[in-house]
Amino acid sequence: VLKGTGHGPLPPMLEQYVRLRDEVEEMLPNTLLLFQCGDFYETFGEDAERAARLLGIALTHKSSKDFSTPMAGVPIRTLDANVERLLAAGVRVAVADQIEEAGSGLVDRKVTQLLTPGTVTEERLLTADENYLGAVATGDGYALALLDVSTGEFRCAAFHTRTSLYDELARHRAREVLLAPELSGNPALLADFQSRFPVMLSPANFDLTAAREELTNTLGDVPGSLTSTALVRACGAVLSYARHTQQGKLEMVRRVVRFEPGAHMRLPEAAVRALEVFQAQSPQGVTLMDVLCETRTAGGRRRLRAWLRAPLLDELSIRARLDAVETLTRTADLRGAIRALLYRAHDLERLSARVATRRATPREVAALARTLELLPEATRLLETHDGLLGGIRGRLGALPDVVTLVRAALVDDPPIRAGEGGLIRDGFHGELDGLRSEALGHRAWLADLETTERERTGIGSLKVGFNNVFGYYLEVTGAHLSKVPADYRQIATLKDRARFTRQDLREREREIVRLETAAQRLELEVFSGLRDGLAAHAEALSEAAGALAELDVLAALGELAVNCGWVRPQTVTGDARLVQARHPVVERATGGRFVPNDAELAAHRHLLLLTGPNMAGKSTYLRTVALCALLHQVGSFVPADHAELPVYDAIHTRIGASDDLAGGRSTFMVEMSELAGILHGVTHRSLVILDEVGRGTSTLDGLAIAQAALEHLHGTRAHTLFATHYFELTRLEAEFPGLINLHVAAEEDEAAGGLTFYHQVIPGAARQSYGVEVARLAGLPASVTARAAQLLTALNAGGDDRKLTRELAALDLGRLTPLQALELLHRWQREG
Ligand code: ADP
Repeated sequence: VLKGTGHGPLPPMLEQYVRLRDEVEEMLPNTLLLFQCGDFYETFGEDAERAARLLGIALTHKSSKDFSTPMAGVPIRTLDANVERLLAAGVRVAVADQIEEAGSGLVDRKVTQLLTPGTVTEERLLTADENYLGAVATGDGYALALLDVSTGEFRCAAFHTRTSLYDELARHRAREVLLAPELSGNPALLADFQSRFPVMLSPANFDLTAAREELTNTLGDVPGSLTSTALVRACGAVLSYARHTQQGKLEMVRRVVRFEPGAHMRLPEAAVRALEVFQAQSPQGVTLMDVLCETRTAGGRRRLRAWLRAPLLDELSIRARLDAVETLTRTADLRGAIRALLYRAHDLERLSARVATRRATPREVAALARTLELLPEATRLLETHDGLLGGIRGRLGALPDVVTLVRAALVDDPPIRAGEGGLIRDGFHGELDGLRSEALGHRAWLADLETTERERTGIGSLKVGFNNVFGYYLEVTGAHLSKVPADYRQIATLKDRARFTRQDLREREREIVRLETAAQRLELEVFSGLRDGLAAHAEALSEAAGALAELDVLAALGELAVNCGWVRPQTVTGDARLVQARHPVVERATGGRFVPNDAELAAHRHLLLLTGPNMAGKSTYLRTVALCALLHQVGSFVPADHAELPVYDAIHTRIGASDDLAGGRSTFMVEMSELAGILHGVTHRSLVILDEVGRGTSTLDGLAIAQAALEHLHGTRAHTLFATHYFELTRLEAEFPGLINLHVAAEEDEAAGGLTFYHQVIPGAARQSYGVEVARLAGLPASVTARAAQLLTALNAGGDDRKLTRELAALDLGRLTPLQALELLHRWQREG
């Protein structure tokens, strides 16, 4: 661990370090140990080199007579910031603190915290978003368990293919992934996982017997929904790992929800990325989530993200959400009242989890109580509603009154720590009130002492003071020492004054300390009682937290629909029709200048082939349709004047070209493997968006692949939008009945010196590609664009030659009549 130089015996402190470091290594290998040394947390040896690199701190050396090892440290007060950086870099951190006052000998130290990216619960180290720890095991297919320790959310699913497992893992953005030995032991598989996810190698316990035990321990039994050993092992592994990092406390986890990946729309990772749902493709870009995020609580935000990750397939559930959103769009008062109320709510899910493990601070319990206080009002607001809103009312109202007791017990603004008193309200606890008022009586006597003693002794300058050595004392200046009464006992003599005490002063002081200590202890007891009371209702609390989060999302979607002029989509079977649809993100960026477009996908036009110059708006159009479909199945209104949409089983996209540098695959390889995934997975109920397929290779290859893919997709009858710069493809309209040409209007305007884009999608194929004009627009030197235009003419002519050659070669001279031959010659001359 230390890789030091020299071979003298280690100094005692380093010996202690090595012992703790070994201890940590055994629990979680590869964990970086921060070791408190006074005002610093130090790292040594290999850890020091790692920390110096990751944190950008200076690397020094710890040297004794015959030993030297690398050392790097950070000041104590910067611990949080540094831990955050280490976690973000995917590094596990252990913190060893000094657990006794520094004296002459070696200070005792203990590992007090184990922090891992996927299991942190410290509010200051977390973002408001979900924070999943994942575990994968195999057996018959793959099993995935996902646990968010900060809220107690625990889910699992089984997958037939690794691709679908990857999609789910990526969508949940697990911050830490544990792999069962049968996976991590396979180097190729391990490398594949590691190139995609923050895989942590650890001796996580995937053992079946241990997993059964862990599940029984945490949930009371091994739930029947865990139908395979792989599921049991994955669930057991996350729990035991999380328990490790939570010092054994896992009370926030109460049930595991088995979800069916097939129960939701398939939204492959590539589609989430291409549609910029959570992450923009440019650093400053705006995401769909940014536009949608009108939620007012952290729980609502997490719930909205969950809905976006798993769009619905079930028409009734979609309708239920849409009904609720519609109600909220219609009743501005109700919506306003709900949103005003949510504004005052704290993160109920996380607070409930902290209460369940009895870790909540007084301040957190007060925040919880303040939030719970809002629930009766929320219930009342939803009184006359049924459907989803009615269900929410039921879950919000199910909390027993005992929790509102907390509010009566705690002061408005309690301190962070429970041990220092000042948390329980006056009038809540008789015995506590008694102790406090008695202490207060003594304090009042003390406060008056100066005045009463000045009167009694006639010494106008007499003072009552306090210091840590003597406690309270009476101070008299030299000139008045003769007037000091007999009951004063001198305890200190200074240059020009003396300090005294009195028997009863001592007694009062002792009483105050006794009473206040007793009060503090009692307060702690009352507080623990409250916390226990809350923990007993953990189930109902997390139920209410979930309901509040859902209400937040529905109200946010209502607000958005009203503010942005969105419309309720009609769920239909078969054809899709969008009137004046807009791209929610681009619309916002272009201000009032966005040009809405219609879209129709039906049996006789299920494949729309879109041509037009670069920058005309092809991509935007494609994404508009996909986003409307996604929003519909999330249960949201959509950015259009009118919308009829079927329930799609999947949205597949192949948009944009980006090198997978980390994975070492070329642009073209990425493109083709994504295309392969689509062509294998698509059904007649899918929506497919393809943008510029075949761009990553030579023109002819690209064209061939694009056409072949197009023909395949035509055969599937999936609703497909296909944007391309290959004009040659537009002639397929004649051959394929479901294929319709569309183009985006643009006009060459010599006077204005280039192209005008109208962003209007209209029937028919574009006439030319305008590539050279776009290049001119982009600022290529005039000489270059002029030369390009010249070359283009020549190439086109060459194309004609080739066409002629091809036609000649294809002639069946044996069957050609002289008249036909003459007509052909005639035509060629004309086209010449
Ligand atoms: P293409 O895919 O044809 O190259 P994009 O869809 O990327 O073009 O659009 C290029 C730019 O044109 C977008 O960034 C956007 O600013 C603008 N744009 C696209 N569609 C519209 C529209 N319907 N209304 C207004 N501006 C649009």
